[in-house]
Amino acid sequence: MSKPVVAIVGRPNVGKSTIFNRMAGERLAIVEDVPGVTRDRVYSKAEWVNQEFNIIDTGGIDVGGGSLFQQMRHQAEIALEEADVIVFLVNGRDGVTGADEEVASLLFRTDKPVVVGVNKIDNLEMQMDIYDFYRLGFGEVYPVSGSHGLGLGDMLDAVVRQFPAVEGDDYEEDTIRMAVIGRPNVGKSSLVNAVLGEERVIVSDMPGTTRDAVDTVFERDGQEYAVMDTAGMRKRGKVYENTEKYSVMRALRAIERSDVVLMVIDGEEGILEQDKKIAGYAEDAGRAIVMVVNKWDAVEKDDKTMSRFTDDIREGFQFLPYAPVLFLSAVTKQRMQHLLPVVKEAADNHNLRVPTNVLNDVIVDAVIMNPTPTDGVRRLRINYATQVAVGPPTIVLFVNDPDLLHFSYHRYLENRLREAFHFEGTPIKIIARKKS
Ligand code: GDP
Ligand code: GDP
Repeated sequence: MSKPVVAIVGRPNVGKSTIFNRMAGERLAIVEDVPGVTRDRVYSKAEWVNQEFNIIDTGGIDVGGGSLFQQMRHQAEIALEEADVIVFLVNGRDGVTGADEEVASLLFRTDKPVVVGVNKIDNLEMQMDIYDFYRLGFGEVYPVSGSHGLGLGDMLDAVVRQFPAVEGDDYEEDTIRMAVIGRPNVGKSSLVNAVLGEERVIVSDMPGTTRDAVDTVFERDGQEYAVMDTAGMRKRGKVYENTEKYSVMRALRAIERSDVVLMVIDGEEGILEQDKKIAGYAEDAGRAIVMVVNKWDAVEKDDKTMSRFTDDIREGFQFLPYAPVLFLSAVTKQRMQHLLPVVKEAADNHNLRVPTNVLNDVIVDAVIMNPTPTDGVRRLRINYATQVAVGPPTIVLFVNDPDLLHFSYHRYLENRLREAFHFEGTPIKIIARKKS
């Protein structure tokens, strides 16, 4: 998974490049007392308290012509696009300028965390000069001196604190990490409790790598599972903002950390638009997905209810034809016993490795059954297939021209692979590459 990205933004000459070089940990002798000749690199790796990340010096990005303001704006926009955390650098000697306010107004439009660094605070006497910058409206401001290397530690602590948690938890590789997601009140917490009620809990309330989740680790039939409870946090009265945006962000982080996503739907209410949006994130992230229709005890049923609901799910989540659907009740525990076996199977499929020769046999057979498409002149030729990754299984096809692999044939091949290898519960990626 990719490292967090930190972008440094600010008007010209506040010291972006100087700070960048400090953060890059290299005292490259590039900073001279001549504005504009200070940089030779724009991206660098950096590390702080064992956290690796990438930094971008947006001031060094050539955004073409335009006025200084236009350039600054483009640079800030790139930062907003690319970065996980933005360092907004200002010059402590100048106080807040109109150009600073211009940058601030751009940064206000993002949800991304902004850390204000007040540069050129070269000695303690100058500390008073930083207070003006609180009115930029980004909370705490951090005095630094790029040329003297002062204050950077505190600023970087603040930056690192804002990193989204992605990877780096301490679980064994074969621990299955489950994220339970869904709209408020569909029964996520009840489901987590129902699962844990039946299992031998190894660690409870293990702090996750995010501020937003608490993990519990348990074992079933020799398999270790970690369940991330994002909803339970709120019930313990910890930090929680009851906005949709915030809960979506928490769901996203849980998804990023998981192997299998349990997408919980309220059986009484049916499928809502918000359910689709949340499931879409899990799909984008390439996670295995199990659909859980909860509160099945409260649904009035006849012998067709389940198949009708399944049809609704297939219709509503057309992008997830491979996700198994489970109907259960977290409260009465009805059908709960099916959950973990389905999760385990989805996780196994997510990590399935297909032998290359068998994979190529399936592709060759598929092509015989249904010849590859042409563009009227040339026909798609698949020379060779190989699996390059798991989690999700990712298959590269070496072809004469990737543009000839149209959507419908892509879909056809995916279906054949699913029939052959039983990838239930997991997305699979098929990538066409030009044979070199
Ligand atoms: P950028 O254009 O915003 O990237 O700014 P630079 O890093 O090129 O710095 C602009 C000028 O400010 C250069 O002359 C630097 O030597 C100077 N400068 C950078 N950081 C500091 C600092 O902490 N204190 C002082 N006094 N000057 C600095
Ligand atoms: P969360 O916000 O998604 O974590 O949902 P909760 O677990 O807090 O449940 C919301 C409400 O739905 C609570 O009143 C639960 O008692 C109820 N609920 C949860 N699971 C079930 C279920 O399986 N059947 C029924 N009838 N109610 C349930």
